Amino acid sequence: MNIKEQIDILVKLQKIEIEAEDIKSKLSNVAKKIDSFDAKLKEFEQSIIDEKSLLNDLSKKYRSYDSDAQTSLALVKKSQEKLRAVKTNREYQSLLKEIEELNAKNSRAEDEMLLGLDRIDETEKGISVKQGEYSKLEQVINSDKEAIIREAELGEKRLAKLEVEWNEVSSKVKPELLKKYIMVKQQTMGIAITSVKGAVCSGCNMNLPPQMYNELQRCDSLKFCPNCQRIIYWDKS
Ligand SMILES: [Zn+2]
Repeated sequence: MNIKEQIDILVKLQKIEIEAEDIKSKLSNVAKKIDSFDAKLKEFEQSIIDEKSLLNDLSKKYRSYDSDAQTSLALVKKSQEKLRAVKTNREYQSLLKEIEELNAKNSRAEDEMLLGLDRIDETEKGISVKQGEYSKLEQVINSDKEAIIREAELGEKRLAKLEVEWNEVSSKVKPELLKKYIMVKQQTMGIAITSVKGAVCSGCNMNLPPQMYNELQRCDSLKFCPNCQRIIYWDKS
């Protein structure tokens, strides 16, 4: 196999690796993406739970004021009955004062109840709006999740295919060349083989010395960029 053919195989190998790396990096984000979707939904759900618990508190408060009002009313009734049977003015005045205080208490409770009803109404409306928003968000998120999972499945399949291809292609490379290629790949963080166009290395954008560029065009030996150390080949286009 001549140099040109070996270069072609290495380029093919690198193409497979780049695609595989791209898929792997996408796959590594899948779990994170799904977690963030779930967290978003959960956060929204929690805000509804909080609103419901507020509603529960408001209802409890309302019932408590209601019971206060009932109690005050019953006491007022009792005092009014007693009023009919009093014998002294002092007793009469004291009962009147008691009734007045009970009425004031009752009136405060009723004011609180009115305010409470407004807040209950407001909160119920808010919950209903939020529940509508929640089911819309849930739909969007579920379909986004499905799309991500589908894409991940395709990615896994493609990755398996690429692995088979890589094994096939790499078996055609001379073992010592493959070793060299892998070594350069580690040194250059991924891209081991790169083209040279018009004497410029596309790996590092540096000019090749003219003598080397001439030799490269002859394609009779493996060449490395003197600047970035990548395996280089001549791109005629
Ligand atoms: Zn270079």
